[in-house]
Amino acid sequence: MKKLTIIGSGPAGYTAAFAAARAGHAVTLVESEAIGGTCLNSGCIPTKTFKSSADILDKFRHMGEFAITGSSQAAIDMARLLERKTSVIRLLAQGLEKSCAHLNVAVVRGRGHLVSARQVLVTARDGSVQPLDGDAVILAVGSRPMELSALPTDRCRILTSDDALNLDHVPASICIVGGGVIGCEMACIFRAFGAEVTVIEGQNRLLPLPAIDEEISKLLQREMKKAGIRVETGVTVSRAEVGDGIVRLHAAAGSARASVPLKLEVESVLVTVGRVPDTTGLGLDTAGVACDPRGWVQTDAFLETSVPGVYAIGDILGPEKIMLAHMAAVEAECAVANLGQQSVPCDYSLVPSAIFTTPEIGCVGLTEVQALALGRNVRCVRLHVRELGKAHAMGEIAGLFKLIVDAESETILGAHICGPHATDLVAEAALAIHMGASVEDVARTIHAHPTLAEGFGDLCRIARLA
Ligand code: FAD
Repeated sequence: MKKLTIIGSGPAGYTAAFAAARAGHAVTLVESEAIGGTCLNSGCIPTKTFKSSADILDKFRHMGEFAITGSSQAAIDMARLLERKTSVIRLLAQGLEKSCAHLNVAVVRGRGHLVSARQVLVTARDGSVQPLDGDAVILAVGSRPMELSALPTDRCRILTSDDALNLDHVPASICIVGGGVIGCEMACIFRAFGAEVTVIEGQNRLLPLPAIDEEISKLLQREMKKAGIRVETGVTVSRAEVGDGIVRLHAAAGSARASVPLKLEVESVLVTVGRVPDTTGLGLDTAGVACDPRGWVQTDAFLETSVPGVYAIGDILGPEKIMLAHMAAVEAECAVANLGQQSVPCDYSLVPSAIFTTPEIGCVGLTEVQALALGRNVRCVRLHVRELGKAHAMGEIAGLFKLIVDAESETILGAHICGPHATDLVAEAALAIHMGASVEDVARTIHAHPTLAEGFGDLCRIARLA
């Protein structure tokens, strides 16, 4: 039995706390803000609460198509949406607090400062300092929005994702700087809420991430444009002027040598260009915890930092690991299993992504580009969402299932889905890849009709014949 202190109560911290308590360790969880971290308070859950309202609004606008009569003049009531968001968060936070109580996890409120593997100092809001002594520490302090010097956020006109999730009104026009996952999700949400939305992305495609297949990025971009979102790729913002109730953005498209200036006037700007480590005052330097040049904590394969007995998990490990809530939870379980005994390296080989754009994206495993770069002999098989009866019944026919298959073994290497409920559908593909399933295995699995899940079964049947 070990005495363990965990700093940070996001999905990394609370999963580690529950796993460690269940394994018989004495656990103290330190949190300076609200329990649940970014994920519960300003990330996964609030964005998906907003997205649920956005989806209903989108459906409402097409009510005639579904033979529903009446007024289709629906609009979002931001005050009530914020109330709903707060009540969803409160309910889930209460669940976490109950689990802490049930598992005897002591929750200490305050800012944790690492002294060594054997001591953490916690400064409470009133300034009092409490030492917590123990055998090991897990750092799970997460990340916060990255700011750009060209676009200093002011919480009013130039916003972070945290601010956007607290807006009490829908801006008439909003420019989202950064077309990654958070930027694209926010673009779809605010467009559905009625804003004029522009997305500016420096690279040449939306979602410019290695895990996202380029075909899927292009499809999303096409659908976002169809929804009325202006998308500018290969464009860099250099400056913003705030005044007269508007923000004037100065940007340029193209290379430094041949750039085309672009000016844009909007009510609000949302900066979604990435995240930075939330380690201010954590004491990493003095404790001797090694970080990379950008401040992300470095660990070995067993998630132990350069200080023996101090582990790190979750977003604090940075984008080279995978900054997602479910990966944070996997790292948490792994770090707890490794306390004092390096037994389980953390496995990053198969992490599904769920992107809540319109249409949604779910992907897992290798992209075509990654598979080819690894020298794999692959076949790519595609099925359009419009080939599914259920998609027509739902009135949501945009999208694609794309499968990457090993041409020799016929096993599935990657699945990339863009379409309705893609974020749920990807789970079957993840299981199939994890179990080493061949396309034959999935093709022989009976999928109920009419469902969107048939898409994966049909795709594997096509792959079997190809
Ligand atoms: P966090 O959740 O950030 O938790 C860290 C906690 O540590 C915080 O509560 C913080 O207050 C606390 N803390 C920091 N320093 C100290 C200190 N010194 N002392 C005490 N406490 C401290 N991921 C998904 O998988 N799916 C999604 O749909 C998704 N959507 C997202 C949407 C948005 C807008 C954002 C911003 C993120 C989203 N993410 C999503 C990412 C996800 O939120 C993070 O990957 C996840 O929260 C990381 O968990 P964590 O426990 O490492 O850190």
